[in-house]
Amino acid sequence: MNNLVVLITGANRGIGFELARQYLINGWTVIATCRDLETAVALVSLKGKFPNKLSIELMDITCPEKIKTLASKLNEENIKLDLIINNAGYLDRENTSIHTINYANAEMCFKVNSLGPLYLTHCFLPLINKKRLCKIAVISSAMGSLSLEQSVDWYGYRMSKAAVNMLVVNLSQELVNDNVAVVAVHPGWVQTDMGGSTATENVVDSALGVINVILNLSIDNTGKLYSFNGEELPF
Ligand code: NDP
Repeated sequence: MNNLVVLITGANRGIGFELARQYLINGWTVIATCRDLETAVALVSLKGKFPNKLSIELMDITCPEKIKTLASKLNEENIKLDLIINNAGYLDRENTSIHTINYANAEMCFKVNSLGPLYLTHCFLPLINKKRLCKIAVISSAMGSLSLEQSVDWYGYRMSKAAVNMLVVNLSQELVNDNVAVVAVHPGWVQTDMGGSTATENVVDSALGVINVILNLSIDNTGKLYSFNGEELPF
């Protein structure tokens, strides 16, 4: 058991759920956010196993008011966070060619994948535990890398992940003197609703890898992009 606290967005399914489960197993207190309790059956069941260590909070990452309200609520409860994991993500499968762009879907990618983590970090920074090293992780994607060899597809998703990588670089520099380390993590191609059943990684291995990357995060390697297997990737 420990007294460390992590907030994880999009924790009702996929990688976010497994991250929540693993941190609970490791004795952390987990604040797990989701949009709707009806789609959070597994998370609610997990609460049954960890009643004192897991709290489930409703929050849509595209709604600035809801992010602000949750931050105020946790602040009033005097919660101090050691780690924030921006995990919630949206993949728009339609925008595979410049000839077939759906603007609303591309916009949603930016709202969920880029602007959500930006505003969430802004609202939750005052809750960060300043007594020890704190960490902010963004579950990004190698698909947002400008340097890796890429196929041409998923305009909105790729652009929004490139944008959130820049958030990580900016944050890492601005917060370095506040003892806050920041990292972007590529979780691998993972068997979730987003990754599909033919993906190469199972969700447990991916989550354990992400946790290990976060464990190895310090002020010395802040502001970088890592794969879940520990390999540093180029932005
Ligand atoms: P899933 O599709 O399984 O889960 C996505 C999660 O994000 C769900 O909890 C979903 O909630 C939440 N979410 C979506 N929109 C919103 C919103 N507006 N507000 C709050 N939460 C929202 O995806 P994964 O678990 O696979 O992905 C997790 C992260 O990993 C994402 O950031 C993704 O981009 C990244 N990633 C995944 C890869 C993969 O192969 N799976 C590869 C590379 C990166 P709800 O149930 O309410 O929709």
